[in-house]
Amino acid sequence: MKLHILHCGTIRVSETVPYGGRIDLNNTRRQLLTPDERRAELPVCCYLLEHPRGPVLVDAGWRRDLSPAGVYDPKAVARVLPRHLAALYHPALPADAAIHEQLAARGLRPEDLACVVLTHLDPDHVAGLRHLRGARRIVLPEDEYFWSCRTVYKARQPQSLWIDEPIERLYYRGSPLGPVHLAIDLFGDESLTLVNVPGHTDGQAAVLIRSGARFVLLAADAAYSPRNWREAITPGLGFDRERQLASLRWIAETEKAPGCAGVFCSHDPGVPAGTIEF
Ligand SMILES: [Zn+2]
Repeated sequence: MKLHILHCGTIRVSETVPYGGRIDLNNTRRQLLTPDERRAELPVCCYLLEHPRGPVLVDAGWRRDLSPAGVYDPKAVARVLPRHLAALYHPALPADAAIHEQLAARGLRPEDLACVVLTHLDPDHVAGLRHLRGARRIVLPEDEYFWSCRTVYKARQPQSLWIDEPIERLYYRGSPLGPVHLAIDLFGDESLTLVNVPGHTDGQAAVLIRSGARFVLLAADAAYSPRNWREAITPGLGFDRERQLASLRWIAETEKAPGCAGVFCSHDPGVPAGTIEF
């Protein structure tokens, strides 16, 4: 199978977002108030998989009106995101980097997508959904949708970005996979499995893609780079540190399992855009 790693814009965040350890008010304050020049710039990844059933997209990235000229534009961001999220992310979307622009460059329309898989509902993963109208399916774990009623997620996941999109909600089932043994076998053939990796959000899915004896794991925001699971450092953006640690332990085990062709995080500056074949 071929997996294209796409960079659909950037976030500029405090170092405590990827490697923050604690989740508390002090940390949150730092994440919102760190000046732009002291932030780390991280990519926002989407993944395009050439699957036998048709092209599958994982996550949707930012949307064009956040960054009309392709650069960080606080006024444009303020029209799309609430103030605290604008302060958290400092997003930018360079020219031709929006998901529909990248699909068009490959000769693909949203209607050509067999499925769009959403790992979770944070805005950097779903804002681009409006560019994908017409996709044959858009799927999300029911747990993620259900818990979006929590106060913390109401603040993190503005409904205006996703509530009107035709999202199909799929239930996790008992599985040998994952830190909490919950997963969704999307096509019923183990080629693409959404594995619940809670901690960043309740319902977040990592995506396990199998091709014969080989597999790739897309860890979403359970980690920001291998440093998180190799040194057991929890990211500072999440809701439950113990669950984050359990998810990191599972990712570490999975990376060592036979057949692993790579583990990729949604915001790892060490992973360039490009194609891997496995
Ligand atoms: Zn993210």
